[in-house]
Amino acid sequence: MAGRLRLEHRVAIITGAGSGIGLETALQFAAEGALLCISDVNLEAVEKAAELINKHYPSANAVSIKCDVSKEAEVKAMVDKAVEVFGRLDVLFNNAGIMHSADDNAINTEEKIWDLTQAINVKGVWYGCKYAIQAMRKNKTDTEQGLHVGGSIINVASFVAKLGAATPQIAYTASKGAVLAMTRELAMVHAREGIRFNALCPGPIRTPLLMDFLNTPEKLGRRMAHVPMGRFGEAVEQAKAVVFLASDDSSYINGTDFLVDGGLHACYVTPE
Ligand code: NAD
Repeated sequence: MAGRLRLEHRVAIITGAGSGIGLETALQFAAEGALLCISDVNLEAVEKAAELINKHYPSANAVSIKCDVSKEAEVKAMVDKAVEVFGRLDVLFNNAGIMHSADDNAINTEEKIWDLTQAINVKGVWYGCKYAIQAMRKNKTDTEQGLHVGGSIINVASFVAKLGAATPQIAYTASKGAVLAMTRELAMVHAREGIRFNALCPGPIRTPLLMDFLNTPEKLGRRMAHVPMGRFGEAVEQAKAVVFLASDDSSYINGTDFLVDGGLHACYVTPE
């Protein structure tokens, strides 16, 4: 249909929507007509995000909810809330994640940092999928509104799940590798139910998560030397890819490791 917004009438949940990629994606989803349930462990941040979205895109009817994705009951409550408010669920963006400043190599990383990272980055994604699948299974086709059975789930991994790095963050890297493998399997298991799963693999992006980690000029410079385009990516550049993966524009894309990294994965030597 000409001029139709790409996510019109679609109900979407975004986790970790109080900052960075999640916040920018919430804004892009709203601009594309989605109805939004946004969550974050930081309630104040996500409430502010909902206020901002509803000011600029009142049709999004954004509702905010506190959700620590490592807590199964909170993830279930988030999915229940979206269905209670909007009647269905079409899109889940499993975005919330951490990269802990004490994450290091195999020898120095403490078990509690490892466990915390896996609990948020891996278990959080699993819980989100677990409850979203059950909600999406109830979707009925409504061709008038452009709604289909099934849905689209986008799980955030990272380019470090695809590339080796000698700047160690072993718990984070392992967690993102798990997201890739889990997403691939989910995509196969649920393919005939019309539920698509794709993993987003951002390159280095200028958000608090990375900037807090690269907190010295040396650390920044060590990374930048490897970035072909000579700049970190912007959160909005991820958000636009997520809109694509969430919408029917990507209807035959399933089980991919979708790299949005400025070409970093393909680089041997960067330009002078
Ligand atoms: P960010 O720190 O700006 O935002 C992350 C959000 O997640 C924050 O609002 C935070 O409060 C929330 N969060 C943290 N723990 C949570 C929990 N337990 N439950 C719910 N919410 C929680 O980070 P970002 O850069 O926007 O990262 C978003 C995702 O992208 C993460 O999964 C991250 O690993 C991934 N990623 C980021 C980069 C990058 O360079 N920034 C690169 C690759 C992948």
